[in-house]
Amino acid sequence: MASTPRGTCLVCGVDTTVRCSSCAQAGIDLFFCSPKCQTLAWTGHRLFCGSCAFPVLFPLLSPDEATSALQNLDKHNQVYLFEGTVYSATAAEVAAVRCGISKKELKSLIRAGTECTTKRLPLHHRKLQFAIYLARRAHDLFPFKASIRDDILCSASKKHAELEDDVLPWHLLDANRSQATLFHALVCLITITRIGVDQPIENAVEHAKYLCRYRDAIQAYTAVHFTAEAEGTVRKLMHSEDEPIDL
Ligand SMILES: [Zn+2]
Ligand SMILES: [Zn+2]
Repeated sequence: MASTPRGTCLVCGVDTTVRCSSCAQAGIDLFFCSPKCQTLAWTGHRLFCGSCAFPVLFPLLSPDEATSALQNLDKHNQVYLFEGTVYSATAAEVAAVRCGISKKELKSLIRAGTECTTKRLPLHHRKLQFAIYLARRAHDLFPFKASIRDDILCSASKKHAELEDDVLPWHLLDANRSQATLFHALVCLITITRIGVDQPIENAVEHAKYLCRYRDAIQAYTAVHFTAEAEGTVRKLMHSEDEPIDL
């Protein structure tokens, strides 16, 4: 007997059978209980919806992101986790260690990974995707200055860096369904948090309640699908920062 997939709404945390149909076609169940919930997270979810949902593919860099990344390649602005130890490294160092990419190659991959590039590579190109993550992690967060899109993508890349090895694979192309689902859930949370920054003050309390409920839902998902250690890492990530721009 075929059973209808059920899951937790990625926005409000209620149990539902309603999924994003484009993502379901890509082979991943992402639940949004209502059009209202789907719309609330759409600014961020649309960047990964459908053909970019599974395996997870980050979209091309905006010219601003690429310029900032190229200027910051030699700054120690990357969190690099290896066998339980946290290292501070430059993007060029991480590219070399993780993916065997030289600094020169990294620069040309960043250019190839920028919107309006003439040098086309498929979006799922493994090294191209890695260069795109590194570029976004090298990018400073500019709340209220960057576009909402760039803020969300930068924040998503940085969260991925904090969760890699323990919870998510260092290359998201290698994420299994549960890992990809958790990543999408975090993108929705980042989006709702980011949108909250622009909310009028009278909506702020309701918004904060939403976020609390939603963090609980992510925690519950992690408890079912991941190890206790991974669950602890996600809990720490979601409760360590109070900045509205972050989780
Ligand atoms: Zn919902
Ligand atoms: Zn979708």
